Amino acid sequence: MLRCRRSSPPVRPRLGLISSRIDRPPTEPSVPEKHSASSDLPAVSTTSHPIPPTLHISRHPAVLHKLAVLRDVATEPKKFREVVRELSWLLGYEALADARVRPLEVRTPLETMTGHELADRIGLIPILRAGLGMVDAMLELMPTAQVWHLGLFRDERTLRPVEYYNRLPDSATVDLCLILDPMLATGGSATAAIEVLKRWGAVRIKLVNLIAAPEGVEAVTTAHPDVEIHCAALDRQLNAVGYILPGLGDAGDRQFGTGRSD
Ligand code: URA
Repeated sequence: MLRCRRSSPPVRPRLGLISSRIDRPPTEPSVPEKHSASSDLPAVSTTSHPIPPTLHISRHPAVLHKLAVLRDVATEPKKFREVVRELSWLLGYEALADARVRPLEVRTPLETMTGHELADRIGLIPILRAGLGMVDAMLELMPTAQVWHLGLFRDERTLRPVEYYNRLPDSATVDLCLILDPMLATGGSATAAIEVLKRWGAVRIKLVNLIAAPEGVEAVTTAHPDVEIHCAALDRQLNAVGYILPGLGDAGDRQFGTGRSD
């Protein structure tokens, strides 16, 4: 996992530094001729705004490649779901990099040695409905994880999240909660989900998103500076109706084929 590095000198992250609307045009990612050093990797952000320390943007070439497929308007739902799943696996792998393990005695065909097993109990919280497509990959990675569905819809008038479904158990039974939502747009659903989890007793919470907007990152880091965000890209801005630009459109519609057909 590499923290995003841009060509300009790194700016010490300061919360609240990301403006709510960025008017300058996106900088084109520079395509490297070789990948021998991290500075040769292409930019993963289409905004020049500061990256807070809790935001982790993957620069893995496989992530960059798959993300371009996902963004492509010509990618049909079957392929889109497949790539959401693959990206979720890769981002989940990175988000788990600091999960705790405990020693475990393993007998190989030749001798006994000390291996490790995952010690953290993991809870996966997909935000309905777009987060559903991220669950299977995460369960492949963490087969013992528990899954709790949280339904939040965005009130189109206020752009505020409204909770309509909550299957959390009575009390927190895990060490690490991963909130799964492909798009971190205004940050309204993410902050609402984090608040629900914190009230319920969750201590360590991470957000796993495919694409984040600066507005959403700012909302989350301002309200919850303890929550880490893992994503594949930080895009430029939101449009007037809260969609991420350049983005990929509606992540739910594109997974489930419910978008407009014209
Ligand atoms: N939700 C989406 O599915 N796409 C966006 O661009 C923003 C929110």
